[in-house]
Amino acid sequence: MPLLNRRRGVWLLVFAAFCLLLWAGARWARQGALAELQQQARLELERYVAHLQGQLEKYEFLPVVLASNRRLVSLLQHPADPKRIEALNRYLETINRITGTSDTYLMDREGLTIAASNWQSERPFVGRNFSYRPYFKEAMKGNLGRYFALGTTSNKRGYYFAYPVRHQGRILGAVVIKLDLAATERSWSRPGTEFIVTDPDGVVFITTHRGWRFKTLTPLTAEVYRRIRESRRYVDAPIEPLPIDSSEELGDGVRLLRIGMDPPREFLVQEMAMPQAGWKVQVLSRTDAIAKQQIRTLAFLAILFIALLLLALFWNQRRKRLRERVRFERQAKRMLETRVQEQTRELQKAQDALIQSAKLAVIGQLSTGISHELNQPLAAIRTYADNARALLQRGRQEAASENLSHISELTERMARISSQLKIFARRTSGETTPVPLSTAIDDSLGLLAARLRETGTEVRRSGDPSLVVRANRVQLEQVLVNLIGNALHAVEAVPERFIEIRTRALDSRAMLSIRDSGPGIDLEILNRIFDPFFTTKEEGRGLGLGLSISQRIMEVMGGTLEAGNHPEGGAVFTLILAMEDTAAQGSPIPDTV
Ligand code: ADP
Repeated sequence: MPLLNRRRGVWLLVFAAFCLLLWAGARWARQGALAELQQQARLELERYVAHLQGQLEKYEFLPVVLASNRRLVSLLQHPADPKRIEALNRYLETINRITGTSDTYLMDREGLTIAASNWQSERPFVGRNFSYRPYFKEAMKGNLGRYFALGTTSNKRGYYFAYPVRHQGRILGAVVIKLDLAATERSWSRPGTEFIVTDPDGVVFITTHRGWRFKTLTPLTAEVYRRIRESRRYVDAPIEPLPIDSSEELGDGVRLLRIGMDPPREFLVQEMAMPQAGWKVQVLSRTDAIAKQQIRTLAFLAILFIALLLLALFWNQRRKRLRERVRFERQAKRMLETRVQEQTRELQKAQDALIQSAKLAVIGQLSTGISHELNQPLAAIRTYADNARALLQRGRQEAASENLSHISELTERMARISSQLKIFARRTSGETTPVPLSTAIDDSLGLLAARLRETGTEVRRSGDPSLVVRANRVQLEQVLVNLIGNALHAVEAVPERFIEIRTRALDSRAMLSIRDSGPGIDLEILNRIFDPFFTTKEEGRGLGLGLSISQRIMEVMGGTLEAGNHPEGGAVFTLILAMEDTAAQGSPIPDTV
């Protein structure tokens, strides 16, 4: 079924569009959320780096200042003097407390610590040798040494600044301060965001996430690992790579990192270098919120899509219903039209049948008169025949022949009457031909001759006898028989009985009026006499169809029939018909009888 297939196709398309929309929406939402997260994290990273930088810069000059202190130089010149040692220990302790550093100590040229702020603690630095530490080596070269490491004695992570102590251009030793950076972890811990600081080898040594301390983001080579071990930077702490599941570069130094912790988490990672310290600071932002944002966007898009879809469906339905209605209305109109046509045809048929039956009814009415009309010549024929026989027997040939010619005349008359009846009774096709008005009047009067005689009614004819009209002869005669028949009926009621028939030309038309000497038509019924079945006659004498059918016949022939009363009494019926062309006028029309 093609329709079903098409519908399925449309739905598939809609589904595909839905999927595409969700896919694009998810991507768009993710990119938007990532960009926002990245921007936020970037700001935090900058603030964190600024904070770290500030912390280091604050202490950077402290060893430089201390190195120029006379007491330090004098102890290095006399390292064995216990009084001086104790005095310096106390001095360093005070300095350490005031500046807020973790430790402050003095080393000789060999790397041996000779005075320290923690001289009174459980594990004092005094007497310990840190010559292997890079910050010491750097100071011995005459530079400011910086280093980050896990304290071998204190086991605390610290940042070291060391500066050479000179006397007359000669380096006698180095003064060292150690900063505790644990605070930079604790105060920067935030939900959903982690900071890590890595050393040049990529080892995480400051982190807001405890489990990541001394881990690496990439596996270390064996050589690097050995070097770290030898430097004792992180003493004996185990250094392992973090369980990284996947890493995706997003460009601009930003990447997505999936760390296989329990549970595994995805982070957006951005980094910033601190070149002086040799560090890299990274901020890791959890992307969980992105998924939530995506789900929100998808839910919104899905609802929007469904709403639009419903709207589209609604519109479609409405359009369909409208179309259906228009089609239905059109169909109804067509049906109505054909029904009207059918009814018109049926009406026409019924009318034809009615005309025919009315005609037959008239014939019924006429039959008495007609049989009389035929009986009279028949009786005469018999008399003439009897006479002729008698005359022949007497040998009077001539007289007999005269009687026989009377007989033949009479049969001719009878033949004419019967043929008139035949024509009248014929069902006609409605075709029009030129009809001489006087002939039609003659024939109609012929049919009614018996009744005229019986009632002693005088027929008065006047006007132009040469008028030829265009009509259907049989139907015109039917009308005339009806009208003259009605007139005959009307005059029955009065003693002076006559019927006036006038014809005259009226421009291109012919007028024929039939007036009788009867009582005329009551004004109350004048507008009803053309209604079918309207009659004032007693039962058996009228059906009330004559006038309505006559009027209809006239209309069909393009003429009119009107009724009225004559000023001197009696009814007048007026026919108006189209005249036949003048050329045809006057030329003798052969009598079809
Ligand atoms: P019917 O002759 O069967 O009654 P018609 O339709 O021919 O039917 O005539 C309808 C009525 O018109 C008659 O019953 C009669 O009342 C009236 N009518 C017709 N012709 C005449 C007339 N010449 N004079 C008076 N009334 C007439």
